[in-house]
Amino acid sequence: MDRSADPSVQKYVYVFGRGHADGSAGKKSLLGGKGANLAEMTNLGVPVPPGFTITTDVCRQHLMSHAMPEGVEEAVSEALERLEGFTGKRFGDDEDPLLVSVRSGAAVSMPGMMDTILNLGLTEKSVAGLARVSGDERFAWDSYRRFLQMYGDVVLGVDHRLFEWRLTKHREESGVHEDSELTPAHLKELVAEYRGVIEDHGSGLFPDDPREQLWGAIHAVFESWRTPRAIAYRKAYGIPHDLGTAVNVQAMVYGNRGPSSGTGVAFTRNPATGERQLYGEFLINAQGEDVVSGTRDPLSIDGMGEHLPGAAEQLIETAARLERHYRDMQDLEFTVEGGRLYLLQTRTGKRTARAAVRIAVEMADEGVIDRNEAVLRVAPERLEEVLHPTVDPSAEFTPLAVGNPASPGAAIGRLVLTAREAIEAKAAGEPCILVREETSPDDFEAMVAAEAIVTCRGGRSSHAAVVARGMGKCCVVGTRALRIDEAAGLIRANERTVKRGDWLTVDGASGEIIPGRVPTIQPEPDEHFERLMSWADEVRRLAVRANADTPGDASTARRHGAEGIGLCRTEHMFAGEERIDTVREMILASTAEERQRALDRLLPMQRDDFIGIFRAMDGLPVTIRLLDPPLHEFLPDDEAEIVRLAGATGRSPDDIRAEVDRMHEANPMLGNRGCRLAFERPDLTRMQTRAILEAALAVQADGGDPRPEIMIPLVGHVAELENQRALAIETARHVFDERNDRIDFAIGTMIELPRACLTAGEIAGRAEFFSFGTNDLTQTTLGISRDDSGSFLPAYLDAGIYAEDPFQRIDREGVGRLMRIAVDEGRAARPGLKIGICGEHGGDPESVRLCEELGLDYVSCSPFRVPVARLAAAHAVLAPAERPAATRIRA
Ligand code: ADP
Ligand code: MG
Ligand code: MG
Repeated sequence: MDRSADPSVQKYVYVFGRGHADGSAGKKSLLGGKGANLAEMTNLGVPVPPGFTITTDVCRQHLMSHAMPEGVEEAVSEALERLEGFTGKRFGDDEDPLLVSVRSGAAVSMPGMMDTILNLGLTEKSVAGLARVSGDERFAWDSYRRFLQMYGDVVLGVDHRLFEWRLTKHREESGVHEDSELTPAHLKELVAEYRGVIEDHGSGLFPDDPREQLWGAIHAVFESWRTPRAIAYRKAYGIPHDLGTAVNVQAMVYGNRGPSSGTGVAFTRNPATGERQLYGEFLINAQGEDVVSGTRDPLSIDGMGEHLPGAAEQLIETAARLERHYRDMQDLEFTVEGGRLYLLQTRTGKRTARAAVRIAVEMADEGVIDRNEAVLRVAPERLEEVLHPTVDPSAEFTPLAVGNPASPGAAIGRLVLTAREAIEAKAAGEPCILVREETSPDDFEAMVAAEAIVTCRGGRSSHAAVVARGMGKCCVVGTRALRIDEAAGLIRANERTVKRGDWLTVDGASGEIIPGRVPTIQPEPDEHFERLMSWADEVRRLAVRANADTPGDASTARRHGAEGIGLCRTEHMFAGEERIDTVREMILASTAEERQRALDRLLPMQRDDFIGIFRAMDGLPVTIRLLDPPLHEFLPDDEAEIVRLAGATGRSPDDIRAEVDRMHEANPMLGNRGCRLAFERPDLTRMQTRAILEAALAVQADGGDPRPEIMIPLVGHVAELENQRALAIETARHVFDERNDRIDFAIGTMIELPRACLTAGEIAGRAEFFSFGTNDLTQTTLGISRDDSGSFLPAYLDAGIYAEDPFQRIDREGVGRLMRIAVDEGRAARPGLKIGICGEHGGDPESVRLCEELGLDYVSCSPFRVPVARLAAAHAVLAPAERPAATRIRA
């Protein structure tokens, strides 16, 4: 019965061969990536050994019921018969046997996680037949020993090392370097030994019946879906456990058949740089696994023409053809038998961010894709990588765990678990990776000392993340699978451990924590990056600004394409030894005169800061937020510092202590801060407004074009804004009169409280711009304190109560809805009201998409994320619906 003829019967097996395949590239979920592309290549007329694919459906049913669904055996037999027809050989024949490979292949690539068996069908009898028909004894026995080895390992559970050391022993005894140099006599001995190993250590006997071999292999491949390492891998990458794998059974072609045969892997373009050139490695007289296993040193594909001239030429042609067909860079596996090329696999190649950019741009130049497609080809979140060292994309590894990538770059160092160890390692000149539950400001020195910081808890705006980004240091946060056992001196995840002092690699772009040392490469921004960004800029509607508090940050931001500053935090200007004491004097002052004296000293410092920023952002808007945090944040909290301050200011330590106590708040996030504090201390608003406008006038007088925007924080009621606005305008009048000069400036407000959103119409009457402070708006809308969320939010995320960390990605339904109200009512009251967003969300591509939908004018993010936001803004225009998230999976 031909099952495929009857549409009501489920089709279990898809055949490919002789220029025709049942499947196609579109059937990845059913045939797995490997099977779907083998089918696609066959239909394209690319030389692919014929075979068939047993669907992932069968795997799923098999895993559930522990039995093959009815009809599968029959379908496999039919497919085998067709395969025999294609090849003119019979499976199980003793004279000229059809041999097959049995290959796993899931819909998502899980490199090295599941198993493949080659040369299946060989037996004690047919190995002799193969030797006769091929006229090559060495080849036949080499194929057989490989088969025994793989079957023993994969199906019968024999530790592969038991085979390997025997192989090594034979190489040594015969004084050869490579397996291919072993003589038939040695190989025969080896085969006998392998059979013995299987008898002694295998879960069953090695079957001499090819059909039994085949079913054993098919079962084993299905079962390999749920080996602990495959499960761990899926956990690490968030791959669903119910996808299952397909099984591909394919006629063998032999790369181990002498000097005109070989096997290799190739990328159609360089996956590290993106350069358009075939990139890869091959081995003469070898079979598949040899290239990646590292037992022999492969040759560069550049030299393939010398050894296998015809096949090399054919490979170049086929690679170009496949790339054109798939319209993307391909990762190929091939084998050459007797000078003839066969393709065994193609898939979209993984690549560095830098290569992704170059490939997209050059493919647009070549007319393979258009510019918009090129823009869409690069995932915005990966763009930051372009400016940082990255993990070599051709490296094979299984991460210990995957956390939230918080600050990109790749780092390698020895595991340390405490701040002290990190500092000691640094002093000893030893690179280290600091892994902590979470970091606190006490860890700062250790963070400086470490190559990278990894935390188990906290989001992308946690202390570790913010500090690391500020330092441009690789950082992964919220690695929830990771457990620290400080007493035992190790970390643990997914049933694996890494000990203190062991090497660890951290990929800050993907969030992967990898045991050992993975090679890294140093990318450089280049002309391709600039061009891709210019294409993105052409299509995006949202402007992109940066959050920058210093002239240095402002210049960096501008270099990355920022079109202004969306948030300049003035409180950061109050930090630093000499300033903080003046600020403290201002806070602790007991008389108005004392306070004014302190403010008078702060004024020129702030003015100078603003002058530098206005110069760096000449001609572009600079939104300066007046003081936001509660004052007690500036007061000392430890005894030594109190005593020092007392000495420096001539106050008694008791007075200072009393003041610190008086200012203590149970819930400072909702306390006396922002415009509330400014209401109590109008002189602060006056001083800051004066500093801003005097700076602007000074820059203007020098021929510059400063564009100041004064932003009032934490407004919940229009009257609060009115109060601050009046102070600012009155101060401006004074400044302009004194200088006999003037300058345009805007006054606007943060929108970061639900009440501000709900009364946005009223507030817009007093504000020339809105800037959403989505960090506070998230805290106050969800009623979740970001600093305290660590105790429950991870569990919430695990359970899917919130699908995403709301501090990383704007909560669409709640916070997003409030934003919508604020935009609609604000613009209704004041048409053309300028609206932006500042805060961590401004650099998150999905949040940028929401901002596009809401019709905001700009997003503002940290300087290094400006290119990310520019590209994300273009994606939001070009692909308004959510595209499948650019997964962390290296597909
Ligand atoms: P993985 O998914 O780990 O890459 P594959 O199923 O691709 O495993 O098999 C690994 C290698 O085995 C292939 O790259 C290829 O070199 C070799 N191989 C698989 N099937 C065949 C075949 N039919 N003939 C020759 N070599 C094969
Ligand atoms: Mg492969
Ligand atoms: Mg705020």
